[in-house]
Amino acid sequence: MFTNHETYSDHPIVQEVIREILDGLDEHPDAIRRRYDVERDKRIRKDGLSQYRAVADLFPDIAADPYAERFERPPLVDEVEVVIVGGGFAGLSAAARLRDAGCTSIRIIDEAGDFGGTWYWNRYPGAMCDVESYIYLPLLEEVGYVPKHKYAYAPEIREHARKIGEHYRLYDDACLQTGVTDVAWDDDAGRWTIRTNRDDVITSRFVVIASGPLSKPKAPAIPGMETFSGKMFHTSRWDYEYTGGNESGNLSGLADKRVGIVGTGATGIQVVPHLGECAKELYVFQRTPNAVGVRAQADTDPDWAASLTPGWQKRRMDHFMAIIMGKDVGVDEIQDGWTDAYQQLTGLAAKRLSERIGRRLTAQEKEYLIEAMDLKKMSEIRRRVDETVTDRETAEALKPWYRFFCKRPGFHDEYLPTFNRPNARLVDTHGQGVTRIEGSKVFSGGEGFELDCLILATGFEVGTAYTTRNGYDVVGRHGHQLSEKWKDGFKTFHGLHSHNMPNAFFMGRIQTGTAVNYVHTMTEQAAHIAYVYSSVKERGWRAAQATVGAEADWVAEIASSTKFNEAYYASCTPGYYNNEGDVKNKNGFFSAGSTYGGGPLAFFDLLEAWRAEGSLPGLEEV
Ligand code: NDP
Repeated sequence: MFTNHETYSDHPIVQEVIREILDGLDEHPDAIRRRYDVERDKRIRKDGLSQYRAVADLFPDIAADPYAERFERPPLVDEVEVVIVGGGFAGLSAAARLRDAGCTSIRIIDEAGDFGGTWYWNRYPGAMCDVESYIYLPLLEEVGYVPKHKYAYAPEIREHARKIGEHYRLYDDACLQTGVTDVAWDDDAGRWTIRTNRDDVITSRFVVIASGPLSKPKAPAIPGMETFSGKMFHTSRWDYEYTGGNESGNLSGLADKRVGIVGTGATGIQVVPHLGECAKELYVFQRTPNAVGVRAQADTDPDWAASLTPGWQKRRMDHFMAIIMGKDVGVDEIQDGWTDAYQQLTGLAAKRLSERIGRRLTAQEKEYLIEAMDLKKMSEIRRRVDETVTDRETAEALKPWYRFFCKRPGFHDEYLPTFNRPNARLVDTHGQGVTRIEGSKVFSGGEGFELDCLILATGFEVGTAYTTRNGYDVVGRHGHQLSEKWKDGFKTFHGLHSHNMPNAFFMGRIQTGTAVNYVHTMTEQAAHIAYVYSSVKERGWRAAQATVGAEADWVAEIASSTKFNEAYYASCTPGYYNNEGDVKNKNGFFSAGSTYGGGPLAFFDLLEAWRAEGSLPGLEEV
């Protein structure tokens, strides 16, 4: 325990540095640690993931697109070179690189009415990306665009997706408002057959699965939900007809409404300020407080934009990722909440201290230092609450008690001040969430709240089976189903290929190197896919699949390199980062075997070296 921190190091400077950090905390470190345990224990539930239900059960019309008129068309029966399932930034990046590689026949299939993926669906007021726009929006140089702000708002992100679609002529063959139902390999034909909910039967030589990790909305299974007599919707299907206004706010339809919101994750904190501004009464039902750091939005400096030289975006992406990986980059060019946190909470802090004392820190000193820095960071976040929120009881309830990486951190400057508004009330559910709903009344414990509208900012399915989340299975050679193959853990080569799935690429975070800026990983994956595509064609191969050996080696590499810290996540309050407390879940976001432990930059280097080698080692013709 921290009480005897001198025993963790015999070096006076290390002791002094750590003592200074601990002296600056809002409470004694041992008390904070005990509080972390208490807050976790309060929230751990036996029903884990099954506490949620698919939103489709609650809102049968969820599949309908609220943002576009449904159009009719006859079923397609045809062949294309590449089918890409998913028109978000992963699918668009792959399509762009395939076009660059000379592929003229690409069909993106997506349930949405346009490109954009998660940014197509998530149009709630205040929707924006808290990862810097200059590194988050892909292909900026290719389409000749510099975002307007440091953090892009959703309409601009959606517009950028459209620009990519137009620039690379991806609308030509796209099938929008179309859901894939089956993806199956025909070994005789050497083709994939993709069936859809519009009775299309499309064959293709290659298939890219780019369905996204957080694409299926989920709702809590609150007793009595069906009886709610007011208006209820999920943030990823915002009903502007009811609320009025748009993504910038001005929700005039709520002026006479009592509005409740369930969920205070990254989405909830962006929505709440607009609800506070526009609703007659606002009730924020909080189960676990979010860590809300500084966002500091800024306009893009035109002089800076004019000074950018070719290759700037990749350099900036690499720079950000190097900071996230704890590398010493000298000057931090990004300077935001992410880079600040990672510089404090990764090996960089240890490196700086070790330079000071002229030797490497022992493992124990390093662990101790990083935990102290974590306590400091969370202390800062709680102090921000104290400094911003005037009502003491509300401020206390808004303070997060867990380690920084337990939950996805949030960054916002208007969320906390909302609780100073007379019409806004934080309903502290003491870790239990909404307990039941009866007609117009929403209950937290014994207290009921009469509401006209209940908004679910309750997130997306994580931890359920990959193919369940996607809504379709992938059936490869000899009838091998992906759902069966990945039942007991992911099995891939480089995260992209899987044995018995010829000419199929799986984009996303599974068994790849990725962190914070997922778009960066997708961009690298896209380049790799285009390379493999071109190589298979140049060699005149019918199709390429991962060999049994290469796949086994990669799975072993992931298992041995993985940095999944089970003890750390087991100590956390539940959430999707730790599969609602079930750290052994094999489908989890951060579970062992899910990502490459060497980190993104090493992973990108590894892919580059593999391409440079030139013989497609680990792939074979079938
Ligand atoms: P999350 O899963 O992060 O949050 C869901 C929220 O719902 C949590 O606060 C959760 O509480 C709460 N909740 C669930 N069930 C109940 C219940 N029964 N009663 C009360 N509260 C409940 O979903 P989000 O949509 O906020 O975010 C998902 C992800 O999408 C983010 O983590 C991020 O990766 C991405 N995103 C990114 C943005 C960006 O700016 N880049 C913006 C928005 C989203 P509890 O914590 O207790 O489980």
